[in-house]
Amino acid sequence: MAQVADGAGRNEAAGAADGIGADEIAGLAGLFADGPLALLTGAGVSTDSGIPDYRGAGTPPRTPMSIDQFTRDEAYRRRFWAGARAGADRLAPVQPNAGHRAAAELERDGYLSGVITQNVDGLHARAGSVNLAELHGNGAVIRCIPLDHRFSREEVLRWFDVANPGFAERWADAEITPDGDAAVTDTTGVRVPVCPACGGMLRPDVVYFGEVVPQRVFAHAERIVAGAAGLLVAGTSLAVNTGMRLVHRAERRGIPLAVINRGPTAIDGRDSVRLRIEGGTSEALTALVSRLAAR
Ligand SMILES: [Zn+2]
Repeated sequence: MAQVADGAGRNEAAGAADGIGADEIAGLAGLFADGPLALLTGAGVSTDSGIPDYRGAGTPPRTPMSIDQFTRDEAYRRRFWAGARAGADRLAPVQPNAGHRAAAELERDGYLSGVITQNVDGLHARAGSVNLAELHGNGAVIRCIPLDHRFSREEVLRWFDVANPGFAERWADAEITPDGDAAVTDTTGVRVPVCPACGGMLRPDVVYFGEVVPQRVFAHAERIVAGAAGLLVAGTSLAVNTGMRLVHRAERRGIPLAVINRGPTAIDGRDSVRLRIEGGTSEALTALVSRLAAR
């Protein structure tokens, strides 16, 4: 009984949050009068694609794996590759959603100077965003540490299957974690793939806990902000430091900020925030596309 009541309460709350007003969208569209905006996105844009937002409410606290653990301890690498393989088949159907498509359309029509994302799911690129800075990398790309040889994750997982016959079938029902991998509880005997070109250690091309955003990627993000008449923050609480550094860049330039997010963000109430929309990014960005097209 309690469970039913909880479920109903949650749905009502979500419904209320999604009631984005036409006046809010009109206000957002008005920010484009001075030129294109830069779009900064986070996990909230990908939840409609079925990728959980581990910073969102109701998710258990987690300790991300650090790069030191990954490189120094083979047990972590076994766990990483085992989890990646076990989760791969169920994550294969993940597709860009209406929010990603709207972002690509806004850029194509000249309304965005570019897209900056904290996500590593590669969905903005797949939806067609072109001037794209992926601050934390792209999990679909695997590179070798010694010589930077690059491969697709799909390709490396095929090598994993050859080296670990029967593994994928054995773990087909493992629970999916918020990272998009699966929780494999026994990695005994798992053989970790290595670079076929040099034999070096392979790692995903993502920024791990304990690493910094590569300078060239941050410089790209800065250029996107520098070429914009405003910064639109969508689907992130801005808990990540790099996002805040870009907010500071925008504030120093004196350009307005706008926020679309479910739940509080680190910049709510700041003078630079001209507009604050409480709601989902798919709905808001789609409505924005329609509104701008109607002008
Ligand atoms: Zn290599």
